[in-house]
Amino acid sequence: MNKCIFLDRDGVINKDFVDYAYSLDKFFILDGVEEGLKNLKDAGYLLVIITNQSGIAKGIYTREDMQVCHDYLQDRVGGIIDGIYYSPYHQTITESLSRKPGTLMFEKAISKFNVDVNQSWMIGDKKRDLVPAIKMGLKTIQVDGHDDQMADYVTDDLLSASKYILEQ
Ligand SMILES: [Mg+2]
Repeated sequence: MNKCIFLDRDGVINKDFVDYAYSLDKFFILDGVEEGLKNLKDAGYLLVIITNQSGIAKGIYTREDMQVCHDYLQDRVGGIIDGIYYSPYHQTITESLSRKPGTLMFEKAISKFNVDVNQSWMIGDKKRDLVPAIKMGLKTIQVDGHDDQMADYVTDDLLSASKYILEQ
């Protein structure tokens, strides 16, 4: 079985915007992200992003727009991200079990990558990232924790989260 770091995207990997980040002029990778991801990868963790992208259901941007951002991200980090799961839905348009705090994206990734949840973590910035992770038995880290703090550990950013994980 494999150990894995699950990551929220907006607010963890790239700067979050209330009106979505869906084009390269607004897709700003946060400081320390490349280094933090590389450190975790070097320690043997898979890296899997689990992200809500309801702007697609709302017609604000397309899957293709999102893919341009994900291709750019992979370029910046040397292609080390193993999987990116996204939920394009929003309850005002259509209900879905995949949208966080639903667990379906986690269940799919855990199955596909044969993940040992006991050795794995979720890094997110919102309560809705952590609720499904806790349900799945993952340890949790909250970054930029302005939302309700409910994680095992709270810190400022992905790089410091990676250091904490590697100290365990
Ligand atoms: Mg977020």
